[in-house]
Amino acid sequence: MKSTSRDIRLRNCFAVLRHLIADAPTSRQILARETDLSVATVSNLVTDLIELGVVVEVGREDSGGGRPRALLAPHAGGGVMIGVDVAETYVQLEAYDLALTVVDRAEERMEASETSPDQVIGHIAAAMDQVRGRLGDRAILGVGVSLPGQVDVTWGVSGFAPNWDWHDVPFRRLLTERLRLDVPVYLDNPLKTITVGELWFGDGRGVDRLAVLILGTGVGAGLAFGGQLYRGATNSAGEWGHTTIDPAGPQCRCGATGCIEAYVGAPAILRQWDEFGGRAAGSQTEAMAALAAAWEAGEPAAVRTVETVAESLAAGAANLLNLVNPDLVVLDGWVTAALGDALVPEFERRLAAHALEAPLKAARLKRNTQERNMVALGAAALALEGHLNRLNTVGSRSRR
Ligand SMILES: [Zn+2]
Repeated sequence: MKSTSRDIRLRNCFAVLRHLIADAPTSRQILARETDLSVATVSNLVTDLIELGVVVEVGREDSGGGRPRALLAPHAGGGVMIGVDVAETYVQLEAYDLALTVVDRAEERMEASETSPDQVIGHIAAAMDQVRGRLGDRAILGVGVSLPGQVDVTWGVSGFAPNWDWHDVPFRRLLTERLRLDVPVYLDNPLKTITVGELWFGDGRGVDRLAVLILGTGVGAGLAFGGQLYRGATNSAGEWGHTTIDPAGPQCRCGATGCIEAYVGAPAILRQWDEFGGRAAGSQTEAMAALAAAWEAGEPAAVRTVETVAESLAAGAANLLNLVNPDLVVLDGWVTAALGDALVPEFERRLAAHALEAPLKAARLKRNTQERNMVALGAAALALEGHLNRLNTVGSRSRR
């Protein structure tokens, strides 16, 4: 894909804003040094960001003899972005200021029986009502929503959500009508939003070739090259969970057999613990916490489960390493958080038996240690990216 001057401009803009969020207050001169852009380029971008209401001047600093330099910061008191993490059992909605700090949040629990678009949208609307009530007259600049399954980003359609058996649901239109909000709504799935969150705020900052492995109820990967999310032709790049490690293996919920998800997805992990004589009871998260505790206590069935899952994960991750040759692999998702202390060291030990030496040596492995909800953060970052896209219009107007 060819980069247009618009893409380059947008990428530079993200780079400037990322540094501003990390290092504010700071000056145009320091931003230029940090981003490797010229002071003139940075100044142009900052002019546009100020015009968009994203950045403000917050003071001046002595530059050692010359004119005092203006200090810049994200406009924290300005508009907010909404990030929504829609999972199978909950809806978590977070409001972020322009420094991408959480200013408010609301959570709704969802029953397993609530599977219709109307019910899911009802929970988002309820969470939104709470947050909007507290935000008062602060403007909402955009809404990003992470939805499980396959999402058509251009049309805002949920193409296929296996957990709810949705096919071609025009989710963005339904949600926009229900929320009665006159702002853009961006839809994507958690693989993509977590990866965008990692690129903006996580370990993916400044990384050229990034792979994020997301271990949860479902399993998948997010890929980014040159600091940009890779979506593939139809936004389905990264469906690593449905690559096959054994054609004769167990049935996967996608309809195929022997997918990596059928070995390392949460239901598969708990099934294996059961088969080895463990006692997986309660909700998935409770059972996973019980497995981690049992492993800690040295329970043989738990130890065997962790070893078996680590072996499958290593085989699957090696396929990805051999194919993509990334600089950094980040392990993420709620199963990583719950079982990572047991699983990650076992996994790393087994990786060398499956991966080629060169891609294995090249890849740094990291476990996400952020406390933040990266799904909601990434969804809000998508809304911020959408807002910054308006730079194109603003910029071309101001310099015509
Ligand atoms: Zn599958």
